[in-house]
Amino acid sequence: MNLFMTKLIGWLLIFFGIFLMAIVAFVPALEDTIIAWFIAIPGFISMLAGYIVFLIFWKCPYCGKHLPWQMGLDFCPYCGGTLGE
Ligand SMILES: [Zn+2]
Repeated sequence: MNLFMTKLIGWLLIFFGIFLMAIVAFVPALEDTIIAWFIAIPGFISMLAGYIVFLIFWKCPYCGKHLPWQMGLDFCPYCGGTLGE
């Protein structure tokens, strides 16, 4: 998996998870219903999965070190390898 795909899949999972949990939080009709759990729990899992994708795949393809959580990273801060997308 390359860095672009890692970013895409990771953020998609995180935003999808937040979206699902926001539905439960902001739709009053769902309060105290079992449906709320069926939305909130997959939402939480999705967010966690996105985080795990970053933990596992957010690395420099050259030196294998974990990259910092930073937007617009063009070069690896450890080995100077080009990370351009
Ligand atoms: Zn590197």
